[in-house]
Amino acid sequence: TEQQLRQARKMEALGHLCGGIAHDFSNLLTGITGSLDVLQLRLLEGRLDNLDRHITAARDAASRATRLTQRLLDFSRNHPLEPHVTDINFLITGMEELIAQAIGPGVVRRLELVPDMHTTLVDPNQLEHALLNLCINASDAMPQGGTLTIATENVTLSTPHATALNLPPGDYVTLSVADTGTGMTPDVLARAFHPFFTTKPAGKGTGLGLSMLYGFARQSGGHVDIHSNPGDGTTVTLYLPRHDGAAKTLPGTDSAWPPPRN
Ligand code: ADP
Repeated sequence: TEQQLRQARKMEALGHLCGGIAHDFSNLLTGITGSLDVLQLRLLEGRLDNLDRHITAARDAASRATRLTQRLLDFSRNHPLEPHVTDINFLITGMEELIAQAIGPGVVRRLELVPDMHTTLVDPNQLEHALLNLCINASDAMPQGGTLTIATENVTLSTPHATALNLPPGDYVTLSVADTGTGMTPDVLARAFHPFFTTKPAGKGTGLGLSMLYGFARQSGGHVDIHSNPGDGTTVTLYLPRHDGAAKTLPGTDSAWPPPRN
């Protein structure tokens, strides 16, 4: 039947993904083992100059491996969304430290959060993952450094604009992540949302970040829009429907979001 076919396709994709990740992961482990071998040898020989380099190499490989497993977890988790009435500004400011750690040293962060942000009904954990992924993408696009701007807005979409975004007209909140990095060629932009499409070296990219963001946005009643030109950097904007209401726990969930402020 059609459903079995769909399931089979999904399993095939998952198999592909696991194979790729196993391959990248074993490359990273080989690198770490290599660095440790060098360190051990140098220690035995008493040659202690410049050991830092090998420690840094091992640590970099380990953190890339961590990112890889994180993305696999994100993909396999696949549990239903747990929406809460969410204040996105609050969510962003709560992640500042995490974002600072995830991005490159030469990247300057800027927050442009609109005052009086409307709330939206969204799974805050998924949104945190999505935001972190966008920041990592932005940082990856600025190896020489640059500016990462996280901005929020309240917007009202009237028919032509809403239709262009494949959304019903109405009130939305937006979260955008902009970088001053390499930008995307039209060809990359056209494929950016495809699962497993990546231009990054093995071990760095899985090609799932944007496709998962797109799935998450559509499931939440929203949309993702990308503006990018080679040399001009990239802006990814997430639209989510405005949803008024007190931040409160929904049935079947055990925590309120955001946590009460003191
Ligand atoms: P991954 O980051 O693992 O490659 P994504 O789905 O997040 O997977 O992104 C797919 C591709 O889109 C990237 O490999 C890159 O070529 C391009 N891309 C995504 N974000 C940016 C960005 N901020 N600037 C330039 N290119 C980007």
